[in-house]
Amino acid sequence: MGWARALLWAALCTCAASTEACKLGFYKSAPGDQLCTQCPAHSHSEVRAAQVCHCDASYYRAALDSPSASCTRPPSAPVSLVSGVNGTAVALEWSSPLDKGGRSDILYDVICRRCAWDVGQCEACGAAVRFIPQQMGLWQTSITVTNLLAHMNYTFWIEAISGVSDLSLEPRRSATVNITTNQAAPSQVMLIRQKSTGQNSVTLLWHEPDQPNGIILEYEVKYFEKNKEMQSYSTLKSKATSATVSGLKPSTCYLFQVRARTSAGCGRFSQILEVETETVRTLRYDTITIVWICLALITGLVILLLVLICRKRRCGYSKAFQESDEEKRHYENGQVMFPESKFYVDPHTYEDPCQAVHEFAREIEASRIKIEKVIGSGEFGEVCYGRLKLPSKREIPVAIKTLKAGYTEKQRRDFLSEASIMAQFDHPNVIRLEGVVTRSRLVMIVTEYMENGSLDSFLRKHDGQFTIIQLVAILRGIGSGMRYLADLGYVHRDLAARNILVNSNLVCKVSDFGLSRVLEDDPEAAYTTSGGKIPIRWTAPEAITFRKFSSASDVWSFGVVMWEVLAYGERPYWNMTNQDVINSVEEGYRLPAPMGCPGALHQLMLDCWQRDRNERPRFSQIVSILDKLIRSPENLKVTATIHRFTYPSRDRGFFSFTSCATVNDWLESIKMSRYQEHFALGGYFSLGMVMRMNAEDIQRLGISLVGHQQKILKNIQLMRAQLLHTGSLRMYV
Ligand code: AMP
Repeated sequence: MGWARALLWAALCTCAASTEACKLGFYKSAPGDQLCTQCPAHSHSEVRAAQVCHCDASYYRAALDSPSASCTRPPSAPVSLVSGVNGTAVALEWSSPLDKGGRSDILYDVICRRCAWDVGQCEACGAAVRFIPQQMGLWQTSITVTNLLAHMNYTFWIEAISGVSDLSLEPRRSATVNITTNQAAPSQVMLIRQKSTGQNSVTLLWHEPDQPNGIILEYEVKYFEKNKEMQSYSTLKSKATSATVSGLKPSTCYLFQVRARTSAGCGRFSQILEVETETVRTLRYDTITIVWICLALITGLVILLLVLICRKRRCGYSKAFQESDEEKRHYENGQVMFPESKFYVDPHTYEDPCQAVHEFAREIEASRIKIEKVIGSGEFGEVCYGRLKLPSKREIPVAIKTLKAGYTEKQRRDFLSEASIMAQFDHPNVIRLEGVVTRSRLVMIVTEYMENGSLDSFLRKHDGQFTIIQLVAILRGIGSGMRYLADLGYVHRDLAARNILVNSNLVCKVSDFGLSRVLEDDPEAAYTTSGGKIPIRWTAPEAITFRKFSSASDVWSFGVVMWEVLAYGERPYWNMTNQDVINSVEEGYRLPAPMGCPGALHQLMLDCWQRDRNERPRFSQIVSILDKLIRSPENLKVTATIHRFTYPSRDRGFFSFTSCATVNDWLESIKMSRYQEHFALGGYFSLGMVMRMNAEDIQRLGISLVGHQQKILKNIQLMRAQLLHTGSLRMYV
């Protein structure tokens, strides 16, 4: 058949030769009488009598396109890409490219890269990430990506592709979006199995969840007799990935489930594992064996009695040796039976505070600690980073506070008092004590390591980089830690962003628990007329004047921490003197909302700064308000408004506002009148307009001296501070 078709084609060509050949820009796909056709769009013919038109540069025909089809090119980038983060999932939506390149077969590929905090390096997102409905070849203009890591930066590229994308050598056009995931509970514990079974106990083993989404604080083993879950179940807590459940009935079928807990909450329970305990073996003993058993029982009883007497007299009791990692709690008919409420014990109530250290804190052998580098300095000595390896535990990074050589006995006691306090706390938002080293020459306090250091410097380093929800989550963590401390009856007295530590998952923990230290080592603390040394800017008026420290005065400080967080580590009351701060607060002035701060958050700050301490919210209320804001982020969209007040006539070096104060008056008062024209040309005719200016606005005025730009910005901030008086709030126009 092939040769017959060739013959026919040759005949047709001869025939065509008799008709006129096609001109340039025209073609005829087969010889014959038909007319020449103009080349399709974006194609051309290079010779006369062309049978096909070739594509112009950067235009292509896909393999399945007919030769008479127009040539097309790859699409431009998708547009209007928007993202919505929900925990560790993100929904991405975009619109189709404005230039589809002449094709309708547009599909999308999604590229995902993960960038760790502080490292600045990105890597592929990994196989665990799920793309719904799929990652490549999407025809729809939306996708949901789940199973991302918590508190992580991700970049997504949405590439538009068509049938000719692979023919082009140019890079694909894409739209990009950067997102940061939020806090999320750990993923489900997957593999749980039984290691051994006895008549009354079962030992279980499991793996850490695939996505811990933070540091796993503990695992919870839930167990109950088969078919009896509704009546009663028990839980057992374990810090390791194994646990032995004891006190079970022999020959009974039990069901077990495990879940992990991080500071973000609990993950889902694992699948149920069913285990039957062993049956009771009836034993037959001879007389000698019975005598031995009786002797062993009597000896055991005597030892037990001795231990009990010893405990009563408090001889050498050490919690560290008595307490296992596992904590048991019983639930009857679904109701939690809480242990009796616990209160914080002031180590100074002990005759010998060192006894308190040994009662509350675990003693660590110095050889178990490897000090690697110095990371800071405290009042008593250097703070180092190192690693701690305890027997049958994995090595963990730790912070080590050291007591400098040549210390006095009092310094040793004061230094260790912080450990005695910290040892009594167990909360995900309070720094955890690993133990103390007191039996070696070098005295040390070992705590969990917080990779991002103190909150104030961390915020300054990442100025403007967090979403409002992330900032609220930071505050929620601190509030939750403070609620726990207040419930124990502990008053912190020095709550400030510099005393909050941040780990690699952005979890914030309250730290700095010294006693005399509060007054001594804080560089912010200043002597007051009442004799004490107090961090004025963070402290409630009644505590400054009458030394009335309480959880309510901690709430005042929390309000200042809220302000520090929303202002990314700005110094409260800027460069005002301590005395000006005391006077202003006394007269009713309060810090204004930082730039972009939602009104609801500023209102909460103002509530924390109520003069009457009974009017301030409690930490439990603060946490629930912050929780509500996180759940309904639409309430965070309204930013606080700027208010004005009638400024008191007494001059303390502030700019004095009157109804006719002008921009020029103000510039004169700050000795910057040379820039009057700059402000006028920039269109800033009223102080109201000036007050809304930020650093970029000032730069745009064309003021070349950076020092002057900064001076103007500081004075705008100061003016805003002056403009908020809780006694007389009126809109500034
Ligand atoms: P402090 O004596 O507690 O104020 O600690 C001094 C400095 O050491 C802090 O400002 C932190 O930068 C650093 N630091 C203290 N404890 C830790 C920790 N647990 N993890 C990381 N850095 C810490």
